Amino acid sequence: MSEEGYFGESESEVEVSGSDVPAPARSFDDLSLHSILNDNIRKCRFAVPTLVQKYAIPICLAARDLMACAQTGSGKTAAFCFPIIEGILREPVPGREGRRRVSIPLALILSPTRELAQQIADEAFKFCYQTGVRVGVVYGGTRLWSDNLGGVDILVATPGRLNDLLDREMVELRKLKYLTLDEADRMLDMGFEPQIRRIVEESGMPGAELRQTLMFSATFPKKIQRLAGEFLRKDYVFLAIGEVGSSTSRIEQEIIFVQRNQKHDCLGMVIDRQQMHGSKSNKTLVFVGTKLKADDLEIWLRSRGYVAIAIHGDKTQEERRRALKSFKSGSTPLLVATEVASRGIDIPDVSHVINFDLPTNIDDYVHRIGRTGRAGKRGFATALFCDGDAPLAHKLVHLLESCNQQVPDWLIQKAAESSTVTDRHERRMGSSWDAPKRSWMTNKHGRNSFYW
Ligand code: ADP
Ligand code: MG
Repeated sequence: MSEEGYFGESESEVEVSGSDVPAPARSFDDLSLHSILNDNIRKCRFAVPTLVQKYAIPICLAARDLMACAQTGSGKTAAFCFPIIEGILREPVPGREGRRRVSIPLALILSPTRELAQQIADEAFKFCYQTGVRVGVVYGGTRLWSDNLGGVDILVATPGRLNDLLDREMVELRKLKYLTLDEADRMLDMGFEPQIRRIVEESGMPGAELRQTLMFSATFPKKIQRLAGEFLRKDYVFLAIGEVGSSTSRIEQEIIFVQRNQKHDCLGMVIDRQQMHGSKSNKTLVFVGTKLKADDLEIWLRSRGYVAIAIHGDKTQEERRRALKSFKSGSTPLLVATEVASRGIDIPDVSHVINFDLPTNIDDYVHRIGRTGRAGKRGFATALFCDGDAPLAHKLVHLLESCNQQVPDWLIQKAAESSTVTDRHERRMGSSWDAPKRSWMTNKHGRNSFYW
C-alpha cells in the first residue's frame, strides 16, 4: 500500500512489530464503531482516520497492548480515546460502582502536564457526547470538586494529583481495564518514574495481564522503550509512524547563530519579520529555559510594544489557564513558555515556534517545534543558537536532514567541533538517544539560514 495518510503522511513510513498484528483500517466505517461514537467523530469533522489512527485503533480494539510513536500533531489523542470509548460501550458495566465522592474508573489516561490533561479531557468529552460514558479530569493547582469524581468511567490525570487522591482514597483503580500513558517517554523519564511506579504497582490496579496498556508519544528514546516494556504485556505491538524521535518536513526549520547578548534584538527582528510577512494567524510561541527568563522576556517584549504573556510552573493555575486562553483566542499573539507548554498542547493555528533558548535534549526540541505544523498544516520554527548550544549541534544536524531541511554550513561545523567532546561524554554516560534506524528522506529544499 502506498496510499497517503489524511495529513499527508506516507504509508511507507509505517513500521509495525509484533505477532498477529491486526490489519489497519482504511476508513472510520471499517472500524465498525458504535453509532453514537461515529456520530461524534462526524461532528468533529474527522472524515478519514489519520495514519496513526488507521493502525493503532484496530490494534487497540483487538485488546492488544501498544507502544505507538507518531509525529507531533498526527492525531494520537483520538487514536487512544476511540478504542477506549468503544471498549466501554461494547461491554456496558452493570451499574456504575462507587460512592458519590469516590472514582472507580475503567480507564485512566495519564498526562505530564495540567494543560495537556485538561485538553485530553476536553477531547474525550466531545467524543463521549451522548454515549453515557463519563469523563473526569484531575490535576494539581485547582480546587478538587470531589462530588464530580463518582461515576467517572474515564479519568484523565496528572501523576502527582492522582497519587494524592489515591492516598486520600478518593480514587480506586481496582476495576481499571485501560491504562494509557500519553507522552509516554516523558511520563517514564527520571522525574516521573517513581510516581508512575506507585500508580501502576502500588495502587491496587490490575496487573499487566488483566488490563490493556497503551503508550503514545512522538519521541521514544530506546532506554525508555525498555522501561515502558515493563508495564506492557509480553506480546505488545510496537508501532512507529515516521522516524522515531523525528519531526515533520511540514515544519520549516531555521537555525540562527547569535551571540548570547544579542538574543533579544534577534528575537525582535524575527517577530517583526513574521508580522510583516505574516500569515492570517500570527500566533507565536517562544520557548525559554527557565521560569525567571519567561517572566523577564514577557516584560521585555511588553516594554517594546509587543502583546505577550508568559506561562510557566510558578504561575497559579488560574494564571496559566488565562494565559493559554488569551493565546488561543488570539488576543495575545505571543506566548512565552517554559517546558510546560512543550508537550501535547494542540492550538491549531500556531504559525511560529521560536526557541529563544534551545533545550539541551533533541527530543524536547522536537516536541516544542511540534506545537506548529499540526494536523497536516505547515509551520515555521526558528531557533536562536549560541555557543553554549554546541552539544546539541550534531543531533540538530541529523534532525534537520531527516526532516528534509537545509542545514547551515556553520551548524555542520559546530557539529564536527562538538562531536568529539560529545562522543567522549556519551561513551562515559551512555547515549540517551538512539540514532533513528532509517532515513528515507533526502535533503532537497533549500532555504536561507544566516548568521546574526
Ligand atoms: P498528537 O497527539 O499526535 O500531537 P492530536 O491528537 O493533538 O495530535 O491531534 C492534532 C489535531 O488533529 C487536533 O486538533 C485534532 O482535533 C486533529 N485531528 C485528529 N484526528 C483527526 C482526523 N482524523 N481528521 C481531522 N483532524 C483530526
Ligand atoms: Mg498528543
